[in-house]
Amino acid sequence: MPPTIAVIGSHSALQILKGAKQEGLRTLLICLKGREKLYRRYNLSDRTVSVDSVEAILGEDIQDLLEGEEAVFVPHGTLISGGRLEDLERRFRPRIFGNRFIFKWEYDRDLKDRLLREAGIKTPKNFRSYTEIDGPAIVKLPGAEGGRGYFIAKSPRDFEEKIRRLIEKGLIRRGEEEKIFIQEYVIGVPVYPHYFWSAVEGRLELMGCDRRYETSIDAIGRISAKDQLELSITPTFRVIGNMPLVLRESLLMDIFDEGEKFVSAAERLVPPGIIGPFCLEMICDEEGRLYTFEFSGRIVAGTNLFVNGSPYSDLLFDEPMCMGRRIAKEIKAASELGEIEKVTT
Ligand code: AMP
Repeated sequence: MPPTIAVIGSHSALQILKGAKQEGLRTLLICLKGREKLYRRYNLSDRTVSVDSVEAILGEDIQDLLEGEEAVFVPHGTLISGGRLEDLERRFRPRIFGNRFIFKWEYDRDLKDRLLREAGIKTPKNFRSYTEIDGPAIVKLPGAEGGRGYFIAKSPRDFEEKIRRLIEKGLIRRGEEEKIFIQEYVIGVPVYPHYFWSAVEGRLELMGCDRRYETSIDAIGRISAKDQLELSITPTFRVIGNMPLVLRESLLMDIFDEGEKFVSAAERLVPPGIIGPFCLEMICDEEGRLYTFEFSGRIVAGTNLFVNGSPYSDLLFDEPMCMGRRIAKEIKAASELGEIEKVTT
């Protein structure tokens, strides 16, 4: 029996459900209460179960249901932001598409940084202490959703002043300064390539690319420099949407090189390595150098741009191929070969 594709109703669920249907697979939607109406509008799930929270997937009833349906659970961003990743690793019995052990490396800033560095991927410099700041630095607060409260500091003095203002505003508590992550701020433009490592084909595919539309950082250029100065705006990085991006063809070599380094480091450090979709979140500077400051070890929401395929997926496939469909295709192929273990953990 071909596997059923199961997904939590949020993030990129519509695309994952659509892709599964295109590949002729059954779908099971685990829907957060209150969102059923939205998903009914698209009629992409063969079966829907309602749950109170994301954590409900760890409950025995949902796990039994997934196992009974021989479902493959496709993880996305909601799962990572929900935490409880240790429980997911140890207590969740159904098959997960991808590597369940890599999610905590994505969630934890130090582990994330270690994986990127050990991969030999070019990353922005980290400052161990604010006293080392010797150029533009981005200061990332712990658990800051959407980069709210992040700020740019130019020097140790500038840092001290800005952190004091944040403490006064109650945005950060005293003592929390230690958990702050300070990184070189790369002057450049964001580039987020959507990769797919096919364990079945043994090849790295570029499925698309986007950039994020972030407020208020992308809003600043809309007002004059004079107003920017007078209003003393502290930019934030809250993601509002994604915009498609097609890269200069000459950049693709580096994009693939960085992706390949990531695949081989993940195999070494987090066995069985990357399976399926991942994203390296990069800034490209004026010399065309790519600096990776983050990664996602699963499907990213930016792929929602390409439900009907992207310029890059069109080069590889002769049919519309969104990331959701690519996932379903891989699961189907592995299942037909009797190698579902190759793409699930
Ligand atoms: P993050 O929470 O790490 O995803 O960062 C939020 C946003 O801050 C990103 O989408 C980028 O626009 C920006 N950003 C993060 N790190 C850097 C960096 N080292 N240099 C320049 N921009 C950055």
